[in-house]
Amino acid sequence: MEPIPQGKPAEKQPVFFGKFSGNLEEVVCPICQAPPPPVVLYNKKEGGIKFLSCPGCSLHYASPRFDEPSLLQIYENESFTDFSRYQTWSYQQWAQSRNRSFIVSQLKSRLVLSYTGAGGKVLDVGCATGEFCLEASKQGLACEGIDISKKMSDIARQTLGVPANCLDIADFNPPYLFDALVLWDVLEHVYDPTLILKHCHRLLKKGGHLFAQVPNVDGISNRFKDLRCRLGLSHKDYAHFGFPYHLYFFGKESLGKLLAKADLQAVHFESWSHNYKNGKDAFPLKQINRLVNKACISDYIIVVGQK
Ligand SMILES: [Zn+2]
Repeated sequence: MEPIPQGKPAEKQPVFFGKFSGNLEEVVCPICQAPPPPVVLYNKKEGGIKFLSCPGCSLHYASPRFDEPSLLQIYENESFTDFSRYQTWSYQQWAQSRNRSFIVSQLKSRLVLSYTGAGGKVLDVGCATGEFCLEASKQGLACEGIDISKKMSDIARQTLGVPANCLDIADFNPPYLFDALVLWDVLEHVYDPTLILKHCHRLLKKGGHLFAQVPNVDGISNRFKDLRCRLGLSHKDYAHFGFPYHLYFFGKESLGKLLAKADLQAVHFESWSHNYKNGKDAFPLKQINRLVNKACISDYIIVVGQK
């Protein structure tokens, strides 16, 4: 494996950024590595953080950003999920809620199933509390998960009853290969997305598929928020980027090039809305949703890659 291509520490003293603090590091585009100088999209008011666009692949990224130990500490101090709901969690209750998590798990399972067929062997990389794994198995896929969070993988295994392990993909060496790997909302968080995809490639059967979902830099709503911030019309200070948790903002071009670096060919793209609660999409007309999703200009983008 290649070493992580990320850069040198820019500051020795911890830098404060809102409620977060840590050491900063300057980075270059992880897809192009020696790209032409990036375009500055936005200077964050605090901490000297900049949001840049790579002319080589259109990836948006933050630099300087918190280095990996600092960000891990920030994750450690945060509570993203209200774990108390898992004390009384049941599949039936979840399915009846028709909330976004249930609806998108159903849609994603159907998407994966359309490529692998019933019985397809699937690995959920970054499975969190295991909802996708569970829904995927209800729909006839043989799905297992890995996650670097012990707490989440414990809930997945003990409460949802799915085969999940607390593991880094770099340490995962099963005696079999997978028909499909899924990375739902993972790539925008990881320090070296190319390295993660190379591990995914290693775990995929020849001809197998990789599915990744990330926030879509080309989404209409994201472009609008971006423009408002750049024109000084928004008080949100580039909050839609999701910094410090999100390190990258991908679109169709950057995802295609990222997959190519790991010898995966992008064979399909589509775009999904934030607004899937109760099965409803962003626009009232099905035809409009279909067009927006097909044109990849909704809130999230999904890429399907093939080995
Ligand atoms: Zn680039």
